[in-house]
Parts: sequence; structure tokens; C-alpha cells
Amino acid sequence: MSINFATATFRDFENIPDYNMTQRAEHFYEFLEYLKSNGHVNYRLKNNSSCNSVMNVDIDNTSKDYVSFVSNDYLGFTQHPKVKQAAVEGIMKYGTGAGASPLIGGHFSYHDDLEKKIASFFGRKDGEAVIFTTGYTANSATLQILLQKEDIAIVDMAVHTSVREGCVFTNSKTFPHNNLEALEQILIKSQDKFRTKLVIIDGVYSQDGDISPLKEIYDLVKKYDAYLMVDDAHGVGILGETGRGALEDAGLMDKVDFITGTFSKTFGSVGGYVICDEKIATFIKFQSRQQIFSATAPPSIMGITKAIELVDEEPMWRMKLWENINYFKKGLNDIGLDTGTTSSAIVPVKIGDQSLTGNIGKILLEKGIYANAIMYPAVSRKDSRIRMAVMATHERKHLDKTLNAFEDINNKLHIAKKFNNNHA
Ligand code: PMP
Repeated sequence: MSINFATATFRDFENIPDYNMTQRAEHFYEFLEYLKSNGHVNYRLKNNSSCNSVMNVDIDNTSKDYVSFVSNDYLGFTQHPKVKQAAVEGIMKYGTGAGASPLIGGHFSYHDDLEKKIASFFGRKDGEAVIFTTGYTANSATLQILLQKEDIAIVDMAVHTSVREGCVFTNSKTFPHNNLEALEQILIKSQDKFRTKLVIIDGVYSQDGDISPLKEIYDLVKKYDAYLMVDDAHGVGILGETGRGALEDAGLMDKVDFITGTFSKTFGSVGGYVICDEKIATFIKFQSRQQIFSATAPPSIMGITKAIELVDEEPMWRMKLWENINYFKKGLNDIGLDTGTTSSAIVPVKIGDQSLTGNIGKILLEKGIYANAIMYPAVSRKDSRIRMAVMATHERKHLDKTLNAFEDINNKLHIAKKFNNNHA
């Protein structure tokens, strides 16, 4: 099992053979050693400060401040005094935990308030929202309880992994990213074969930051008598005239069957939600195993209720975010870097080679910039990239420092040239 680090490549560690549990763990441990021996960091770094645009991080036992692009706290609400105050008030009034699952005594007035608040945020009635302790479970638990072996989930290949986990008790088919023809073919073939057909897409995709062709997909879904679920974890608070997300832009907020999302990004905390028909919401609340057997979120979620209000009360954060996104993206493109099809706060710099991507991540850290190098299996190998999440709280000097770093890197490693060659 021992791999020669002098000659090893990423590929040597990718295909874990038919090992048992401890062998697989050892194999992975070796991979981390290999990264270290090559001067890469493993990205499970220890952060010592808030998740704001500047983060204090430990690398090789040394703490330093880095301009950070790793946080999805897009509007900076984790640090907003009113959000913090509401979270603290929740703790002071109710304590630090809820003590039980919702069905056996763990449903409190602050859960009820948040459920009503997120429903009305999307223009829905009381009772049309279910909240979860993570965005991950909002997807996985909802799908697990709604779809059975007579049904089918039809999913875009770039959806979040929580959707895939939701499909373990049902049939599922994947269509190539945003490919309407392929989706239609699956819908046609599924027509009389399955009891319920549920198409699942993201509003904004988490790796490329691109937006779904929502209107076209909605029309197809309805043509074939299917249901539509849209996970807009990365669109809410950012897109739409009033920050309701990709569905607001597409004019579909009151039409799609299921909206799912998270409280861990724009809303500055942790948790997730599903917006749907009241009877289905009630069914999920009473039947989902995660709702029955897992404790509810703590009283600090009162901060989320305030954060939702702030989207309307302080739209300047969304304006500032867009100013930053446009400035940063233009700066990267002016260097000649490929930011793909993003139309959101997720800005990838496409590199295309795993080892080079790892190397660029390392150089950025050396230059005081903390951004994630994303590689296989999160994306395909040739799609390796540096993924950056822009925030409203980034200052111009943070963005300029990062653009200068990329310019330097490009002068040495010619990543823009590689991009042009790739697209020739
Ligand atoms: N959906 C999407 C599209 C996501 O990107 C994420 C998290 N990265 C989730 C769901 C899960 O959300 P959470 O972190 O709240 O569990």
C-alpha cells in the first residue's frame, strides 16, 4: 500500500481499491501525508476568527490573517449586530438548546416564528414551510420521506450531494447539466412508468455559480405532469429584485412545487427549509424521521428570523455584494482568467489541472489569500478550479490584493494562456 511520494501523483490516491475500513483510512492518511510532503495544505485548516472577509487561520502552527473567499456568509450577516443581538436574546430567553425533536416537545415559539417568517419571505402562507437543522437535511430528509420505490427523482447532474442522498429509497435518473433535451427524454420515458416524477435542480449551482434555465425547465416539468423542486441555497439574498433568489428573477416564486434552501449562507447561521403545499409540509413534519428522531435547532436561530427581515430592511448589503462581484469578476477576466458561466457570488477561476490547481491554492495562501482549490471528486479532474465566494464585506483593498496575486501567478504560470489554449 505504501506509495513512493517522490514519484506519486494525485491519481495514485484517487482509486481506492477493494480495501477494508482500516486500510481505506490508512490509504487516505497517506494521501494527506503526500499533500504535506508537497507543501500543499489539506484545507481542513483551523480558523481562529469569524468567517468574515478577513480570517485568522493556523497554518503550520502559525496564525495569520488572510483575505478569505471560503465563506458563504454572502451578506456578512454572521457579524451583523442586529442578528447577533437577536441570537443572544434567544439564548438569554430560552437557553442554549431545545432539548427534543419537534414531535416530542422540541417545537418552540421561536421555531414557529422562523417557519412563518421564511414562508412569508417567499410570499407563502403560514404552514407552507418546514425548517430543518441543516440545509443538507432539508433536501435529503424531504426527498427520503416523499419519494418511494414506485416514484422517480430526475436530477441535474450538478445538484448538491444532499439531493443524491435523498434519493436512496427511490429511482433516480440524472441528466447532463442544464440539458433540456436530455431532461425531456427522461420525462417522456418516465411518463407511464412511475407514480410521482420529481425534477430536482438548483437555482444557482454551487461550483460554477451559474443559474438554471428555470422557466424552460418549469414549462417542461408541467408539460409532462411532473413536480419541480428548486434548491436555491446560493441564490436567495443575492438574486432577484428583492433578494428572493433565482425564482424571483424567473417569475416562478409562487409556482414551483418545492423551494429548498439553507440558513447557513445569506442568513448567517445554520439550518435549512422546505417551502411547499401545506398538506405536504404537514406530512413532512409528522413523518420525516429527521423531524421525529432528531433534536430541533437551538434558540440562537432567532438571529435567522432577524436576518430574513434585514434582507428587506437593509438592501444596501445586496447592492454592495453586486458591486464587489462585478468588480472582482471584471478584474479576473481582464487578466485573461476563465470565470466560466457564473452569474452569482460564486466566482470560480478555472484551471483545469489538479496538481496546478493545488499549487495555485498554495501560492495564494503564501500571498495571504484563503480560497478553496476544488478538485475531483467535487468536480471532474479537468474542471479543477479555485472557487471563491465574494461577500458584501470584502473591501476594495481585499479584492485588489487578490487580483494582484492572480496577476503575479499568471505571469509565472501562464494560467490565462492555458485557458486560451484549452478553448482554442
Ligand atoms: N444545497 C446547496 C446547493 C449547497 O451548496 C449546500 C451547502 N453547501 C447545501 C444545500 C447544504 O446546506 P447546509 O450547509 O446548510 O447543510
